[in-house]
Amino acid sequence: MAGTRVSELAKELGMTNAEMVQALVDLGVAVPGPAAFIDAETAQIVREMFQEAPSSAARVVEVSPSATVKSLADAIGANAGEVQKKLMEQGMLVSVNQRLSTDAMRSIAASYGVSLKIKVEDRPAAPKPKRKGSQAGPQPRPPVVTVMGHVDHGKTTLLDYIRKTNVVAGEYGGITQHIGAYQVEVTVEKERRKITFIDTPGHAAFTAMRARGASVTDIVVLIVAADDGIMPQTQEAIDHARAAEVPIIVAINKIDRADANPDKVKTQLTELGLVPRDYGGDIECVPVSALTGQGVNELLEHIVFMADLLELKADPNAPVSGVIIEARLEVGRGAVATVLVQEGTLRVGDCVVCGTVHGKIRAMTTERGERVAKATPSMPVEIMGLSGVPQAGDRLEVVSDERCARQIADTRTRQQREANLQRSRNLSLEEVLEGLRKGEATELRVVVKGDVQGSVEAVVGALENLPQESVAVKVLRTGVGNITENDVQLAAACQAIVLGFNVRTDQMAQAAAERQHVDVKTFQVIYELTDAIERAIKGMLAPVYEEVPLGKAEVRATFRTPRGAVIAGCYVTEGKVVRNAEARVVRAKKVVFAGRVDSLRHLKDDVREMAQGFECGIMMDGFNDFKVGDTIEVFENRRVEPE
Ligand code: GDP
Repeated sequence: MAGTRVSELAKELGMTNAEMVQALVDLGVAVPGPAAFIDAETAQIVREMFQEAPSSAARVVEVSPSATVKSLADAIGANAGEVQKKLMEQGMLVSVNQRLSTDAMRSIAASYGVSLKIKVEDRPAAPKPKRKGSQAGPQPRPPVVTVMGHVDHGKTTLLDYIRKTNVVAGEYGGITQHIGAYQVEVTVEKERRKITFIDTPGHAAFTAMRARGASVTDIVVLIVAADDGIMPQTQEAIDHARAAEVPIIVAINKIDRADANPDKVKTQLTELGLVPRDYGGDIECVPVSALTGQGVNELLEHIVFMADLLELKADPNAPVSGVIIEARLEVGRGAVATVLVQEGTLRVGDCVVCGTVHGKIRAMTTERGERVAKATPSMPVEIMGLSGVPQAGDRLEVVSDERCARQIADTRTRQQREANLQRSRNLSLEEVLEGLRKGEATELRVVVKGDVQGSVEAVVGALENLPQESVAVKVLRTGVGNITENDVQLAAACQAIVLGFNVRTDQMAQAAAERQHVDVKTFQVIYELTDAIERAIKGMLAPVYEEVPLGKAEVRATFRTPRGAVIAGCYVTEGKVVRNAEARVVRAKKVVFAGRVDSLRHLKDDVREMAQGFECGIMMDGFNDFKVGDTIEVFENRRVEPE
């Protein structure tokens, strides 16, 4: 049941990890990354989709992910109008200058016998009619930064400090509101520079977005408390940043504390392969205090320098493309979503599609509640006017009109539904256990979330202490805090279940669990949780039966029926003989046959049972070799609950 590792499947099909993760996302299978496993059935579907025809007759053509109908048609040597017609047949009304989803591109290409290779890293730089006075082509854009680190190492304090002390020019006062991202302006070498921070909590957003193929982060700031050093979530954050190939700047926090030991942190980092600059490596480590603000400016400067090194650019005149950072339903405002614009300029009045949701932008606001008419690359804005709540990581695109937006969203909804039907469902706890019982599975995989670290440890300890002779409980992830979409995605990718102790399941996680059929169970009392698992495991272990003797009969004569079967004429010497009970024939202390009492007669009558001291005729299917003197031992197998 382990399934296939995403990275191995990618290798097998000659795709990059990023392409494979994207392909799975397109299929509606969210995976946390290339190290995740998918089930055999999904792997097969992917193989069928991407394996090149053995005849190799199919032409392979490479196109950009932002190809328009026209550029796709040109690339595969087809007529744009004809392609447009085909798309219409598939329910997509699009203009020739409109961009297509990778799914749609593949299906069109396939109908021309062409196998598509989508350039993953390609950023759209499509020519567009230039607005008067605007500069042409890609221009430098602010870096997008995610702060990650172990719980309590100071992420929130740092993000709050930066937000409060570095206000974008022209934005004063007002109440800031959490929208999942914000932009600040800092002065570096007398220049005003913008930086965008993603402040969705934890690593969840980062991985959820990556699982959906969206990469928004340019730089990861890894925060490590100088009094605590590298902790499990620090390691996890490093893994995430490395997997996404995002450069890391380390903020060694809490240096105001007397017990701060920045050198210890640097040594630990070195051991993990992140060698600080003053240790001869290339990792920038900035000592800071998020509480007093000491060193924070230097940290911001390093972010700006790193951004310059990365030469981050985007074209504000390109077709708009953005990523949903957060989304929710709000009373009185309807669906609101925070979009980080990556290319182009998003404007109020634009018709948009994000994932399976569409709409016309009614209003855009910054996290300071200021209304804006447009949003340029790297700018996060909250948008209103969507038909529903999109998912974090969904790509936002601008299309020509509302009708078209609705049609694309509808088609995607349909495709998603079909893809969901195709792929195998994830399993509930009961189904996993049933699989284990049948020997189809070998372990019960769990993701454990708890309200505090202590309770998480208690749950894990309790799981480890369960009777495990036949069942291995594998804990995939533990964490403190509510059950998030990220937990559900990990569980979905590994066919695991999510167990929560004293925590809630957030809205996105609940929706994801329903969508991906992941079993999420929450408990308030630790006993409840372990008891449920224990009972389930008991039920799952191969049932144990105990033999309960019923009686014995001695064969005193044998008779042959006209049809050739042999009846044993018996005398019940002990207990009773019961029809349909298990029985064995014993001769000279050896069992010569085992079966059941198939027929039991007293004189000419069929009877259900015969007590000690009576005579009866016994027949056992498949055995005609009774001998006078044989003993027939009758017993029953009773199921016993394993201890
Ligand atoms: P998060 O879980 O990473 O978001 O951590 P928080 O920002 O909530 O910080 C956890 C605790 O550490 C809070 O009590 C903060 O006041 C404290 N803290 C954060 N940064 C500093 C710092 O630079 N110095 C000191 N002394 N305490 C800090």
